Amino acid sequence: VKESGKGHFRFYSKNMDTDFYNYLMLEAHLRRAIEKNELTINYQPQVQLKTGRIKSFEALLRWHNPKFGNVPPLKFIPLAEETGLIIPIGEWVINHVCAQLAKWRKKGRADIRVAVNISPKQFLDPGLPGFIGKTLRKYGLPPSALEIEITEGAMEDKDNILKMLNRLKNMGLTISVDDFGTGYSSLNYIKKFPVDILKIDQSFVRELQISKKDVAITKTIIHLAHHLGLEVVAEGVEEKEQVQFLRSVRCQKAQGYFFSRPITAEEVEKRFFL
Ligand code: C2E
Ligand code: CA
Ligand code: CA
Ligand code: CA
Repeated sequence: VKESGKGHFRFYSKNMDTDFYNYLMLEAHLRRAIEKNELTINYQPQVQLKTGRIKSFEALLRWHNPKFGNVPPLKFIPLAEETGLIIPIGEWVINHVCAQLAKWRKKGRADIRVAVNISPKQFLDPGLPGFIGKTLRKYGLPPSALEIEITEGAMEDKDNILKMLNRLKNMGLTISVDDFGTGYSSLNYIKKFPVDILKIDQSFVRELQISKKDVAITKTIIHLAHHLGLEVVAEGVEEKEQVQFLRSVRCQKAQGYFFSRPITAEEVEKRFFL
């Protein structure tokens, strides 16, 4: 029996050799993706529900490879994590996003903030705050232009997580908890760590119209955030009814296909810059 990622187990088969071969091939190509200019960033708007304004975007990484085509992040991010490639790739993302933010500021949009996903291994890289600080200076950006999205993950490394979060927070970055509510220690996480924003996971938002449980959970997360003085963002919003419900319970921001798919920087300018 062999683990094939995300808790799936498979019995040994002839496929395993080709699976493993494909995995190695994918890794070899991912290793060269940066120098070959195969990585790009898409931006997904976060809409302020009260005003309809858009001042923040989430940066989502895209990889197009000539041999493999468009490889979804859910396939290559775990691979990057396992191989340590997430460190150079993550730094590429931060640098690319900061360069874009600087261009937008030159066009008069100094009010825009971009949220960058930081994977668990990258988050525990002691070089992370230094790299972010250096990159912000390189592009003349204030720390308020950047938001860091982290997942709850395991709480085992509590001391290191706390140290890192305090360092990032003291730099003036905004910290948000991604996929909030899906971990095993959500409440402990917000109790112990200095965070600014909770992102309600799509799995709770998806069935708001048909599931009383999801309504209760979503309302509770929003109330909790209000009481703690945190901002809330609902993810995966696809339907008008979801928007209406979220507005009625004073969820500040929403993100999802209802408003826009993740789009290129050029499309952002065309659609959202007046
Ligand atoms: P995530 O951070 O939870 O990102 C949200 C995912 O939901 C994105 O998938 C986005 O395209 C998708 N999404 C947005 N709105 C909707 C909607 O209305 N309905 C549905 N069904 N989906 C929606 P994507 O871009 O495929 O990214 C998947 C995951 O890969 C991300 O989940 C994140 O964990 C990871 N990822 C993406 N970019 C990066 C990155 O630059 N660095 C790291 N470390 N991870 C990244
Ligand atoms: Ca995210
Ligand atoms: Ca998420
Ligand atoms: Ca996720």
